[in-house]
Amino acid sequence: MSPSTAILFDFDGTLATNSGRWSRVLLGLAREVEPSFPATVEEVRAELQGGFPWHSPEVAHPGLSPSDWWEIMTGHLRRALVTLGLAPSPASEASARFRSRYLDPADWRVYPDVFPALDGLRAAGHRLAILSNHVPELPDLVAALGFDGFFEAVFTSGRTGHEKPNPEAFALALRELGRPAQAWMVGDNVVADVLGAEAAGIPGILVRGEDPRAPRRCADLRGLPELLRSGAGR
Ligand SMILES: [Mg+2]
Repeated sequence: MSPSTAILFDFDGTLATNSGRWSRVLLGLAREVEPSFPATVEEVRAELQGGFPWHSPEVAHPGLSPSDWWEIMTGHLRRALVTLGLAPSPASEASARFRSRYLDPADWRVYPDVFPALDGLRAAGHRLAILSNHVPELPDLVAALGFDGFFEAVFTSGRTGHEKPNPEAFALALRELGRPAQAWMVGDNVVADVLGAEAAGIPGILVRGEDPRAPRRCADLRGLPELLRSGAGR
């Protein structure tokens, strides 16, 4: 395997997971300010559906500052709460608290297979990077979770303005990495990670799930070395 092999990892659901997700975190905040707020987490999730930038990967949004990005998202969160019956003032307060709560590293858990697998891949000389549809502060969250030194780069759509599966999200990462001779994409979302990568000319590997559309999969990151040996990357 060439030392110039780059492995791009999705973040959420691939390397780490948040115990709350957007809907549960938002509902918890709404109940902090209005304990009698009756909406269920399913109702919050349904109301939020479709309003995230990664739900419109055909739309690029480069040049948004993190505060602009969060202003748009906070507005979406607030509207969802108001639609579900929360009064405007507590809805504003709950949504304004969302950014710092969602980014609290204590609410995130790195999957147990991740650090041993990354150790092995790095020791084998592979270049590792993150390519995620995520918030602008993802690099800070990644560092806070103990990933310092593992990843050469963290590409998050909240900063690049390009959402997977848009081919530009992948092309941008490869350009920034100096066009590695071989590349792979590893992720838990068959559409955004696997089929998106394949369409951009990068072999995709599905992890932590099954889907007949995925050309390659492994249960978790421990299966990666064998998969990488079994076939050439880009
Ligand atoms: Mg994911």
